[in-house]
Amino acid sequence: MDRIELELYLNNVLETARFKDYCPNGLQVEGRRKIEKIATGVTASLAFLEAAQEWGADAVLVHHGYFWRNEAPQITGRKYQRLKLLLANDISLFAYHLPLDDHPLYGNNAQLGAKLGLIADSRFGDNNIGWLSTSPMPMSLNHFSAQVEQTLGRTPLVLGDPDQELRRIAWCTGAAQGYFDAAIEAGADVYLTGEISEQIMHISAESGVAFIAAGHHATERYGVQSLGTHLSETFNLEHLFIDIHNPV
Ligand SMILES: [Zn+2]
Repeated sequence: MDRIELELYLNNVLETARFKDYCPNGLQVEGRRKIEKIATGVTASLAFLEAAQEWGADAVLVHHGYFWRNEAPQITGRKYQRLKLLLANDISLFAYHLPLDDHPLYGNNAQLGAKLGLIADSRFGDNNIGWLSTSPMPMSLNHFSAQVEQTLGRTPLVLGDPDQELRRIAWCTGAAQGYFDAAIEAGADVYLTGEISEQIMHISAESGVAFIAAGHHATERYGVQSLGTHLSETFNLEHLFIDIHNPV
């Protein structure tokens, strides 16, 4: 597939123009024009790039790319090593941040919800970033956190009474602990995200709303993976999702 066609397709599907983001969305580093093999991953770390290059990727597609707002502009050190690997091997880097959290089908929140069997009935927070589902049958926090653990293959950090009944489940992947108050205001009984901060414990205790930190990486594995699968089914592309272990 032609790189320019792929970029147009991705920008269109993910509606990149709609988002004000902390990084550029789309093609971040230009590589060869003809793309046959595309590797996807959560973060364009050096370990990920090395694995992608070994597999023979012509392009990589990630959720966490480069050139974040307020980042030092110099191309030195670790940044140099990463860019050198891409440029020396003529590999393109596509990165989609908020558009990939948000997408109703291939997004991180949509895919995590599907994995957990949750059907969203409303959204909350800035840009409607958070998702909310009302279960027809209440379930205990203990039961839900066990389901999260089994689905993600990682033990989550859980705050709340294990026996408390959940009806309204809110979630937002990644480092979205800052939306806990918005989830509470939206009527959630539990809020699931990737990361946690110290003050969350007190907010949870004082509001009575349970909190689950299931891992930033673990909760954001599914969006980019489903998008890669979609590309391989739609175009003549070979796709590989490369999961670089990250306990955070
Ligand atoms: Zn993230």
